[in-house]
Amino acid sequence: MKVADLHLHTRYSDGAYTPLELVRAAAREGFAAIAVTDHDTLDAIPESLAVGRKLGVEVIAGAEITCGAEMKEIHMLGYFFGRGWEHPPLQAVLEHSKRVRERRTEEFVVRLNELGIPLKLADVLACSECGTLGRPHVAMALVKRGFVGSLEEAFERFLRPGKPAYVERHRMSTAEAIGHIRRAGGIAVLAHPGLNRVDDLIQNMAAQGLDGLEAWHSRHTPAQSARYLKMAERFKLLATGGSDCHGPGRDGPLIGTIRLPYDRVEAMKQRAASHPDPVPNGEKKSPLPRKG
Ligand code: AMP
Ligand code: ZN
Ligand code: FE
Ligand code: FE
Repeated sequence: MKVADLHLHTRYSDGAYTPLELVRAAAREGFAAIAVTDHDTLDAIPESLAVGRKLGVEVIAGAEITCGAEMKEIHMLGYFFGRGWEHPPLQAVLEHSKRVRERRTEEFVVRLNELGIPLKLADVLACSECGTLGRPHVAMALVKRGFVGSLEEAFERFLRPGKPAYVERHRMSTAEAIGHIRRAGGIAVLAHPGLNRVDDLIQNMAAQGLDGLEAWHSRHTPAQSARYLKMAERFKLLATGGSDCHGPGRDGPLIGTIRLPYDRVEAMKQRAASHPDPVPNGEKKSPLPRKG
């Protein structure tokens, strides 16, 4: 049976694999298709598409967009078929998010310095060759410099919400994230709903144009997967799945733990091709950051 993994990270955000290493792992695991879904960036896509063609794995362009509702952080997966991922307004939004992430990283360093930890911005930048920066890179730098013993300790002592080096950030709304994805011709899927406690917001997101729920995820229990599959049916949403693999990891890579039947990918393509109205619920037309 043809299978897919629709949630994967590369070095272009906080994953450990290059696109080549990721596609090789996918081929080894027997995947017909994978989606590359880095945090707030599509920078990995050109390289991923190229290696996918070379190794005979269908690569779907994706991104995991950080957004929020009611003070909660929400991750919105966007899937693009054809050339939608090149949509200039979407690229502009993600460039803006990248700058915001860079400024936030500078703030993490300032806070840590104030706490007596002489971490340098260069230490953090050395942990990221390309794409978007995030807290995992700050955590890696803290480990590398020996200020903490592990990534977990970095988050526990400094980087989690409520901890002394945590920096809040502005997040776009779910309606904005869905709008950006759908105006580019993509499909908007709520990532790992089982990890976010946002069940009561799903109906509202469906009205905003949400297309699907990530029912199968490496950290969902079977009961959660069944619950979101049922919810998807109830709200006429697609059910999708992915491992959220970030690389080799301590217990081996997560790629291979979720094997989504390919007919679910076909359903996504059909929905993308037949979207009647890009944004059903009247989200404002110019959500882009204005120049000047
Ligand atoms: P950011 O988007 O920069 O706020 O970073 C969030 C990312 O940090 C998440 O997607 C996770 O991959 C990672 N993360 C969050 N909390 C932890 C934690 N306690 N331990 C390890 N990684 C974490
Ligand atoms: Zn991540
Ligand atoms: Fe996520
Ligand atoms: Fe992810």
